[in-house]
Amino acid sequence: MKKTILLICFASLYTISFAQKTFIWCGTLIDGISDQPKKNMTIIVEKNKITGIENGYSNPGTNDKTIDLKARTVTPGWIDMHVHMESETKKGNAADKFIQNPPDIAFESIGYAKVTLMAGFTTVRDLGGSGVNVSLRNAINKGSVTGPRIFTAGKSIATTGGHADPTNSYRKDLMGDPGPKEGVINGPEEAYHAVRQRYKDGSDLIKITATGGVLSQAKDGANAQFTEEEVKAIVTAAKDYGFKVAAHAHGAEGMKRAIRGGVSSIEHGSYMDDEAIKLMKQYGTWYVPTIIAGKSVADSAKIPGYYTEVVTPKALAIGPLIQKTFARAYKEGVKIAFGTDAGVYKHGMNWMEFGYMIEAGMKPMDAIKSATINAADLLGQKEMLGSIEVNKLADIVAVDGDPLTDSKVFGKVVFVMKDGVVYKQ
Ligand SMILES: [Zn+2]
Repeated sequence: MKKTILLICFASLYTISFAQKTFIWCGTLIDGISDQPKKNMTIIVEKNKITGIENGYSNPGTNDKTIDLKARTVTPGWIDMHVHMESETKKGNAADKFIQNPPDIAFESIGYAKVTLMAGFTTVRDLGGSGVNVSLRNAINKGSVTGPRIFTAGKSIATTGGHADPTNSYRKDLMGDPGPKEGVINGPEEAYHAVRQRYKDGSDLIKITATGGVLSQAKDGANAQFTEEEVKAIVTAAKDYGFKVAAHAHGAEGMKRAIRGGVSSIEHGSYMDDEAIKLMKQYGTWYVPTIIAGKSVADSAKIPGYYTEVVTPKALAIGPLIQKTFARAYKEGVKIAFGTDAGVYKHGMNWMEFGYMIEAGMKPMDAIKSATINAADLLGQKEMLGSIEVNKLADIVAVDGDPLTDSKVFGKVVFVMKDGVVYKQ
C-alpha cells in the first residue's frame, strides 16, 4: 500500500514538471497554409512541438507559461533554401582559402549562424562549403552553438575546372587533379563515387554546379558543365541515400540537362528561357531564385577591386537578370522556394528577398509560403516544418507590423522560437 502511494506521488510530480505548456497569444496568425491571416489566436507548445491551436486568447493553467504577441504578426519560422554558412562576402577575399584553416572558418560561421536565426530563419539549407558546415550543423543540433536547423550539402559537386572545383585558378604546381572525394567528377562512375563520399561525410543532400558561376575564378559564368548522363548518375546515386539534388544553374542548356536529369531544384536560373520554364513545370522542378544575391554581386562589382578581373564582368552581366527571370517563372506557375545565397551578401539580411519577390509581382502571402510550407516541401520536411499546425515542430517567429502590406516588416523580427526554445523575445 505504501509503495503504491509513493509511486503515485512520483508520477504526479513527473507529470507536473514535464507537462508545462507555453501559450502563445497571437494578434495576427499567418499559419503557412491558409491564404487569410487569422486574428486573436493561441498556439500551445509542449516541449518542442505545437500541440494546440485555439481561437481567442486561451487561459493557461497555473504551471503554464504565456507569451504575449497580441500586438504582433506571427508566422512559421522562415526557411532559407540557399545559404553558405561558412563564408561572407568582403572586398578582395579571393585568397582567403589559402590563409584560412578550418577552425578559422568554423569560428566565423558561429557568428553567421546566430544572426541568421535572430533574423527569423529557423531552418536553412547550406548549399556548399568545405565541410565545416557539417560540423556546424552537428554543433547546433547538440545545442553548443546557437543557429538555425541546418540541412547541408557539405561540399558541392563540380566537374574539372567547373564552378566549385576547389582548385580553380591555383598555380599549376598547387592545382593537382581533385577527384570525387574533393567533389570533382568526370563521368557517371565518378558521379556515384562523389555522392557516396558526401554520404560518408555526413551531408543531408547533394548540390551540383550544373553551369558556370559568377564568383568562381573562371571565365564563363553560364556554360553547361555536366552532361545529362552525369546528372542522371548523380540523381540515381542520391536516391539510394534519400538525398535530393539541388542544381546551381545560370545558363539555359545546363539548366535543361539538370531538369531532365531529375534534380529537385534549380538555383539562380538566371538565363531561364521558355523551354526551361516548360520543362520545370513538366518535371515538377522547384526554382530557388536568390534575387538578393544577383543584386548584391552586381552592386559589389561596381566597387573597384572588390572582385578579381575575371569575376567582375560576370557579376555585372548575370546579377541583374535574376529578378526579371523570377517574375516570369512565378507568372508561369513554376514552383518557387525561398532562397538567397546568404554569404554572397551579408548574413542576416536574408529577409530582403521577400521584398524583391514582392516587388517582382509575387503576392505577399505566396512569398511567405515560399519560405515556409513550400520550402519545407522541397526539403522533404513537410511533416515536421513549414506551418503552424498541431504535431509540427515549434518553429515560430513574430514581426512588428503587417508583412502583407509592408515588406520592410520582414526585417522587424521581434520573436524567434526554434524547436520549442525561445531565442529572441
Ligand atoms: Zn550559392
